[in-house]
Amino acid sequence: MISHFLKLYLPSVFLLSAAVYLALYPQSYPAPVSLLLESAPVALPVFGASICFWLRKSNPVFAFSLVAIFAYFVDVLSATQTVAVYIILPLCWLVLALSEERGLLTPSGFTKAASLVVLALIIFSLDYPAGDLGIFANFWIDLHYVLHWRPGWGPGLALPALALATFSLATLLLTVRLTRKHRPLDAGYLGALIALFGSGLRQGDQGATAIFLILISLLLILALFQESHRMAFLDELTGIPGRRALLADMKKLGRRYSLAMVDVDFFKKFNDNYGHDVGDQVLRMIASRLSQTGGGSRAYRYGGEEFTLLFPGKDAKEAIDYLEEVRERIEKTAFVVRGQDRPNKKPKRTAGPSGNKRVKITVSIGLSERKDKQDEPEDIMKNADRALYKAKDKGRNCVIRN
Ligand code: GH3
Ligand code: MG
Ligand code: MG
Repeated sequence: MISHFLKLYLPSVFLLSAAVYLALYPQSYPAPVSLLLESAPVALPVFGASICFWLRKSNPVFAFSLVAIFAYFVDVLSATQTVAVYIILPLCWLVLALSEERGLLTPSGFTKAASLVVLALIIFSLDYPAGDLGIFANFWIDLHYVLHWRPGWGPGLALPALALATFSLATLLLTVRLTRKHRPLDAGYLGALIALFGSGLRQGDQGATAIFLILISLLLILALFQESHRMAFLDELTGIPGRRALLADMKKLGRRYSLAMVDVDFFKKFNDNYGHDVGDQVLRMIASRLSQTGGGSRAYRYGGEEFTLLFPGKDAKEAIDYLEEVRERIEKTAFVVRGQDRPNKKPKRTAGPSGNKRVKITVSIGLSERKDKQDEPEDIMKNADRALYKAKDKGRNCVIRN
């Protein structure tokens, strides 16, 4: 868990620290870096948007486009326009992070694009002189006043109150979502918010602004790669590594290891009785229990209702106790099924106090180890599968070693 956490956030923390250092000590970088600072703030988000287009991730395309437009115009924007960007951009990112991916060339994509164009036009129009607006002049003056308003105690605040409010709101909601879902893209948006805030604190300092704008794009690009990796290697339903990750990890195993195939007992019947959605919850519960198996093991969802446990550096004799332990723990986890109107069939259950049913879930496990130098990972897996069949034959809810 900690290593997962570090892998996800360490690169972002490193990039953030490097950017803060460069922004604070501009004399520390050589001339070529200065050259980079001129082109990268626009080039990087354009690059990011292209990757997203290729990966068919529509919302980040919009996020990058906003960064590119801001970076292109940042030096010519008036004070009011800049403030408006710092108010609106956090909200745009928040909406893009929270809203579903619905494609670019779709009604939803066009609506999002149109909204962003309208927002950009509003920001550009803010420089229009109030005197030319006739009856709207007062409204215009009031609007500018609100955008720039700072509380009496905060003239020293780097950003006006409205910008601080939108930053706080976006940061809060993204943090809550991140702690719940651990999605790399949310971490990317959160990092981008922090970087944007950094640029807000150093307004007028062109070097620092460029560095923070580059940082925004780098953090979002990094998050995109992490998200793609996650989609490829993690199973969507259970959140544990999937078969692709298992096959990749099996290539890296040492000379000694054992492997267990785990299969849920009578799962078809369970689905028939309680429905596929409840079945999915059971799979999540089992994945979570299997991930807690000791002995340095790693759990994977092999497919359907089958899971694999790898024990690198352990033979079957060493692994079997951990497997018995996790088998028992799954058996003892009372799975509560809501509702009283379910048909009264197997598997075994007892009525709970609130009318909810407590259902017993069990798994059968086949275990195998690398015995011969010639043994390929595929052979070990086949042996574990044979052992699993024996476990089913023997009456299920047991561990059999091949
Ligand atoms: P056994 O004890 O012999 O393993 O019996 P079983 O019913 O578990 O075995 P079988 O292979 O006949 O059925 C597996 C069932 O697993 C069939 C399918 O409906 C269910 N299943 C596979 N993948 C999923 C899934 O992602 N979600 C749910 N809810 N069910 C799944
Ligand atoms: Mg099966
Ligand atoms: Mg089964």
